[in-house]
Amino acid sequence: MTAPLASFIRPSIRDLRGYVPGEQPHDRRYIKLNTNENPYPPSPRVIEAVRRAACEDLRLYPDPSATELRCKAAAVYGLSPAQIIAGNGSDELLAMIVRACAGAGDHVVYPMPTYSLYDTLVAIQGAEAVHVPFAEGFALPLEALAAAAGRVTFVCNPNAPSGTLTPLAVIEQLARRVAGLLVVDEAYVDFAHDSALPLVQRYPNVVVLRTFSKSFSLAGMRIGLAFADEGIIAELNKVKDSYNLSRLSLVAATAALTDYAWMQDNVARIRQTRARLLAGLRALGLEVLPSEANFVLARSRGRDMGTLQRRLKDGGILVRHFDTPELRDAVRITVGTDAEVETLLETMAPLLERLD
Ligand code: PMP
Repeated sequence: MTAPLASFIRPSIRDLRGYVPGEQPHDRRYIKLNTNENPYPPSPRVIEAVRRAACEDLRLYPDPSATELRCKAAAVYGLSPAQIIAGNGSDELLAMIVRACAGAGDHVVYPMPTYSLYDTLVAIQGAEAVHVPFAEGFALPLEALAAAAGRVTFVCNPNAPSGTLTPLAVIEQLARRVAGLLVVDEAYVDFAHDSALPLVQRYPNVVVLRTFSKSFSLAGMRIGLAFADEGIIAELNKVKDSYNLSRLSLVAATAALTDYAWMQDNVARIRQTRARLLAGLRALGLEVLPSEANFVLARSRGRDMGTLQRRLKDGGILVRHFDTPELRDAVRITVGTDAEVETLLETMAPLLERLD
């Protein structure tokens, strides 16, 4: 008799719920403020580079070590190419780090609530997630994080879904205190005023992750970068898929870095709209923490904001709700264009009044 198919799967995977990404609708009728994409297009140089690459050599494999991209990134960010590895989105880099560092039973530590993919990656590996609650106002619980002595400690900064930024001085203290690797996930850092990138030169246990999905408007291309000590990068290279980035992604990322000003202009616009969104939400009576990301977390104490999220969807607007005890009374809203944010606020006002 054949065993049930699921019995071929490792028990830890069978028990896993799996990461649930935000909704990606197939039509464009929604105002999409649920997965922190950029409302503005990427640089015309990116479009041109992708167009050109699409007409050349797609029958050949891409460069497995992303040499051109790493050299360009090294020049832009002031490190050496050997301190950089490229990933198929920073999600792949997170997976590579957990795969390389955390075996069965090893502790992987992070403050909560944060990016929920960490839980999935740790569980896949059979490692143990150590959750340390954030202090009031999403202040980093430095002592408790250090005391947990993880092989890896993740800090998402600015944090998702709160949007709050831990000051660089605190991240540096943590780098000194953690027992293992400190991974600073800077997916949203271009929208903030501080970055941990300089720590890579001073602390061999610090890894900084960046993505092209948010500030560079390239979520569709799947590109991320990790910056770390050369020795760490060499180890991560061993666990990466050989050809992890497509030819199109590689040229898109390289071209995006040649037009840094385009990204910065979009970031400046998004920061302005963020201030309007924050003021508008507060005027509707919601609690909103100061955000240094391209989204805000809006809370209405004790109310189930899942209802608001569903009603907004009926009204043509997607926002993100997390059905966990800490976040049930909040929604995370991506900063769109000014017009999108106006529509959101107008749609939300009557819905909030009718909410239980
Ligand atoms: N880190 C955080 C905190 C994120 O929110 C995201 C996007 N969901 C990522 C990493 C991954 O981004 P990407 O794989 O698109 O580079």
